[in-house]
Amino acid sequence: MSHPPPPAPPPAPLSAPLSAPLSAPLSAPLSALRPELHEGWGRYPRLRALAARPARVEEAAPLLEAARAHGLRALPFGLGRSYGDAALAPDGLALHTRGLREVLSFDPATGWARCEAGVSIEDLIRRFAPQGFFPPVVPGTKFVTLGGALANDIHGKNHHGDGTLADHVRAVELLTASGEVVVCDAAREPELFWATVGGLGLTGVILRLEVRLARVGGVGIEMESIRVRDLDHFFEVSAESGGFTHTVSWIDCVTRGAGMGRGIFMRGRHTAEAPRAGLAGRAAAALAPLLRVPVSLPSALLNPLTVRAFNEVYFRKHPPGLLRRVVGFDPFFFPLDAVGGWNKIYGRRGFLQWQMVVPREPDHRAVRRILEEITAAGMGSFLAVIKEFGDGAHPHLSFPAPGVTLALDFPNYGADLLALLARLDRVVMEVGGRVYLGKDARLPLDHFRAMYPGWRAWRDVRDRWDPEGLFSSALGVRLGLCGGGA
Ligand SMILES: Cc1cc2nc3c(=O)[nH]c(=O)nc-3n(C[C@H](O)[C@H](O)[C@H](O)COP(=O)(O)OP(=O)(O)OC[C@H]3O[C@@H](n4cnc5c(N)ncnc54)[C@H](O)[C@@H]3O)c2cc1C
Repeated sequence: MSHPPPPAPPPAPLSAPLSAPLSAPLSAPLSALRPELHEGWGRYPRLRALAARPARVEEAAPLLEAARAHGLRALPFGLGRSYGDAALAPDGLALHTRGLREVLSFDPATGWARCEAGVSIEDLIRRFAPQGFFPPVVPGTKFVTLGGALANDIHGKNHHGDGTLADHVRAVELLTASGEVVVCDAAREPELFWATVGGLGLTGVILRLEVRLARVGGVGIEMESIRVRDLDHFFEVSAESGGFTHTVSWIDCVTRGAGMGRGIFMRGRHTAEAPRAGLAGRAAAALAPLLRVPVSLPSALLNPLTVRAFNEVYFRKHPPGLLRRVVGFDPFFFPLDAVGGWNKIYGRRGFLQWQMVVPREPDHRAVRRILEEITAAGMGSFLAVIKEFGDGAHPHLSFPAPGVTLALDFPNYGADLLALLARLDRVVMEVGGRVYLGKDARLPLDHFRAMYPGWRAWRDVRDRWDPEGLFSSALGVRLGLCGGGA
């Protein structure tokens, strides 16, 4: 199926005006700031906001106070690695936190590190891996801030054993809409804490937090990869991989019929053994197509035919059976980080990620139906991953839940893609699953409310802490979480 370029879908509709116009004269400390275009990792949508880059946590409260005085809405912005519009504050104040990057203290006896919110996963690894500590949960890129990561309650390849980031965090210092800094965690102000976990920056600005780093045997990863024949084989291998701390599988989302769901299952654990040149070289070679295709393909070639070719080559490159080797943590956890700015290969129209989790079913019917829809539509992606989550889950807007998660990137095919994603949403809703808001740019309000029944309780908490609606995002307005939704 070929897809002539349709018009890009319009930016997410806003249900209420967000802010006073940025053209109005602004007083200090806002007068020195300029509006900038902001975008998430998917580069869709792109929206203008006044950009503030405080270098010290003490600068955050006066910026918020000035925003309120001018009738501007505000939102924290980390490293912009959420995909859609979660970090976008149209015509509001984008409070960039990356300048707040001090590690304030570290206790090697317990692993607890007190950090400013703009400290990134990369910062933590750089500083603490040589001492035998590693962040407890890492996403597929190390370029995320701790504040942004908690605001999406991120999960990693170890969710089945270690839960999400919130399970390893305490003493979150949150700058709330009133200007008060409230310390919250599972024991102190728990309601505010659980609304902030996965709360997408809409409860306030996380200024500082404590995270417990994991003591690891070494920074090498003892890794096994296995070519899996189909979806049933994936679930077999997943079931027997509980002894590995980290599991994930790349999945071919183009092949139909008997081979549907085939892929490369990867599992590993930290080891003191250093990656050996020969073995590391083989690992790099196995990962090379994944790393090179995005940069070497002109964006005009990103179409269903090249996606099919990529999926075939990537699957065949791995020999049948199992490979065992020791690799560095970078190729295991963050293979895409090696290709700087890989999101730009999708061109100016950007791309959309869709990640869902559905409860486990004996026949995995929902996962099958979703793969059938995607393969039939011919819009499969290069980068598709599948993983079984553990049983941990958190309230309200946090995404991870017991079951199977599948994540796919789609070039922005416009209306055809939006129609496909709406069909996929419905399959997810039928079985009580949900999609990840941190990856979303287009979820309709009714789908959201069906997927996240905790939304109302979340909004009650948020409205108590931010009755004027100072904190707002494009996603929050679209999904009725703030800024005048019903
Ligand atoms: C290649 C890639 C792989 C990924 N893999 C995974 C994965 O495996 N698992 C996973 O869970 N996610 C994954 N993600 C998503 C990513 O981990 C999250 O989107 C994360 O929130 C990004 O952090 P950030 O610092 O870039 O935040 P941003 O994208 O800038 O912001 C994200 C949200 O956090 C809010 N926020 C930012 N800073 C603060 C703060 N200080 N206080 C309060 N709110 C704040 C923002 O308002 C926004 O709503 C991946 C993303 C990419 C690009």
